[in-house]
Amino acid sequence: MDELILVKYGEIILKGLNRPLFENKLIRNIKTSLKDLGKIKVTRAQATIYIEPMDKMIQISQMIERLKKIFGIVSISRVAKVEKDMECIKKQAVEYLLPTLTHHKTFKVETKRADKRFPLKSPEISREVGGYILSKISHLKVDVHTPDIIVNIEVRDTSAYVYTEKIPGVGGMPTGTNGKATLLLSGGIDSPVAGWMIAKRGVELEAVHFFSPPYTSERAKDKVIELTKVLVSYCGKINLHIVPFTDIQMEIYEKCPDDQLTLIMRRLMMKIAEKIGLKNNSNALITGESLGQVASQTIQSLGVTNAAVKLPVFRPLIGMDKDEIVAIARKIETFDISILPYEDCCTIFVPKHPKTKPQLDKLLASESHVDVDGMVNKAVNETELIEITQ
Ligand code: ATP
Ligand code: MG
Repeated sequence: MDELILVKYGEIILKGLNRPLFENKLIRNIKTSLKDLGKIKVTRAQATIYIEPMDKMIQISQMIERLKKIFGIVSISRVAKVEKDMECIKKQAVEYLLPTLTHHKTFKVETKRADKRFPLKSPEISREVGGYILSKISHLKVDVHTPDIIVNIEVRDTSAYVYTEKIPGVGGMPTGTNGKATLLLSGGIDSPVAGWMIAKRGVELEAVHFFSPPYTSERAKDKVIELTKVLVSYCGKINLHIVPFTDIQMEIYEKCPDDQLTLIMRRLMMKIAEKIGLKNNSNALITGESLGQVASQTIQSLGVTNAAVKLPVFRPLIGMDKDEIVAIARKIETFDISILPYEDCCTIFVPKHPKTKPQLDKLLASESHVDVDGMVNKAVNETELIEITQ
């Protein structure tokens, strides 16, 4: 009996005429992600993707671990492929599922008959298979309302498939189906989560990190590289741009009023990220800001930060509480890296009494004392590029 994986996808089904575009992208992303495991065959039929290992050495469990991180997948099932004949379906279902079924008390059979020419209808198939299971495993009982386990039978074009498990996928849209955005990635908890949330909607990511040596150490940079690697395990590839930021911070520190430092610095970060983003065909910027979290994230502060750029700024965490953000950070496995203790550049030049209700004209007046365009261009030119792939 051959084992393979059936993958189901959700929202893509709603895409009408564009649907093949989304499906093909998802298949390409699956192939890329599994490439190094060995030879596999990936096909698609009736809103299902079939992934067959062509090499006995490939571990299905390892394939499943990878698939759990691919955006666009709603569920993953490890299945047995059986001959499309009632006797085979019954016998092989019991043989394949016996080790699993013996651990449960109640079950029910659910059948999907995608091949409408198959002689028995779905309820009849379920009844026959159910009866056979009952006759072979004496302690099992049928419970159609709240069974401990569901035996799924799918009768499709060339074969039938039997399985019990539907592992939830990560959902979202396939990477590469929804443009590109540039993520301002600090070493903190919030920005990796923000990047992940936008990537989940099919958006490719570029990342920009502002680095302030010698105030921030090489280890702070390594931490950002590690965070990017985690994001890459979901979305395949990220160009990480490391921007030297010390000179800019010193210049602002010297020439601008203390209570405006953070906001002027944030506006410069946005301008630099936008310039890098536009060079890389990004359609938007992403930050990890959340309304009211700190002085630079009041509604007025976000307004003046926004006014620094023309690209749309996505702030997917805007309405979330810290504990909600932390829950996602744990789930996507960025949390443990984010809480490593290395300084990030923003914690160094922190004013004692930052403005919480800034006025744009006052910030612009202060910015006129420094060469904003010159500093932005210089920082972009000195940026280091690190390409991170799976
Ligand atoms: P995070 O947990 O993402 O660091 P935060 O709550 O510490 O966020 P701030 O330090 O005010 O908030 O930063 C707000 C946003 O600005 C971050 O979410 C991130 O998108 C961006 N940002 C801050 N510092 C940097 C940096 N050193 N490099 C790149 N982006 C940064
Ligand atoms: Mg931070």
